[in-house]
Amino acid sequence: MTALPPPSKVKMGLVIDLDTCVGCHACATSCKEWNAGGIAGPLTDENPYGKDPSGVWFNRVHSYELAETATAEDAQPAMTLHFPRSCLHCETPACVTVCPTGASYKRAEDGIVLVDEDKCIGCKLCSWACPYGAREYSPVEGVMKKCTLCVDRIYNENLDESERVPACVQACPTRARHFGDLGDPDSDVSKLVAERGGVALMPELGYAPVNRYLPPRPRRGGDGGEDAANNPAADARTPLHWLGRLLRR
Ligand code: SF4
Ligand code: SF4
Ligand code: SF4
Repeated sequence: MTALPPPSKVKMGLVIDLDTCVGCHACATSCKEWNAGGIAGPLTDENPYGKDPSGVWFNRVHSYELAETATAEDAQPAMTLHFPRSCLHCETPACVTVCPTGASYKRAEDGIVLVDEDKCIGCKLCSWACPYGAREYSPVEGVMKKCTLCVDRIYNENLDESERVPACVQACPTRARHFGDLGDPDSDVSKLVAERGGVALMPELGYAPVNRYLPPRPRRGGDGGEDAANNPAADARTPLHWLGRLLRR
């Protein structure tokens, strides 16, 4: 089993705005394009034009139609919810502590969780341990892969400074994706999370995800009403509460 480093002060991560995400998959394809080379590549595709295509994607976008419900516990307006899903770079990640070889590890300096493919034996324990479905096994190479937070972009001095952001953040046409240090309360991403009532996914599981999701704003004609408009955090509970239940299945 693999030990975690002491908690890092710097917590690099993503903030994803579920209000402005339109489900276009630009982030997913841009992620695939960048990460098909570099430290995590290749990202394989099997039977891409056949009946059952499969492959390795670090970022997958799921779209759901939510029906209006009015029960006190699960109240939510009818809406379409696009949910981009990638590694949340948890502070106490189960995927690391279950790893028998040290292949999965968390960086002490910035909290990014990575896989050393040279040490991975493909046992898949980490993918069983991750409750967010964020691990991606490559059957071709027999190793586990995952979102690297574009570690080979964000510190890459060969790139123009404006490009030292994750590929998915750069590609998003609606600017629904943000990147920065969530350990610094004065960073732009931390301020955005505070302003918009951003939340962690399923914090009750105890893995302390670093990434945050910004909830959809109240819809016109929905049942969010004035209270929700004045209190985005309260409104956040509805669709994100539902998302938590879906992931738990
Ligand atoms: Fe959503 Fe942006 Fe990804 Fe498109 S690129 S699916 S808008 S997060
Ligand atoms: Fe590990 Fe899953 Fe957390 Fe990513 S989201 S750090 S793969 S437990
Ligand atoms: Fe993919 Fe990089 Fe975005 Fe992670 S941070 S989802 S590796 S593009």
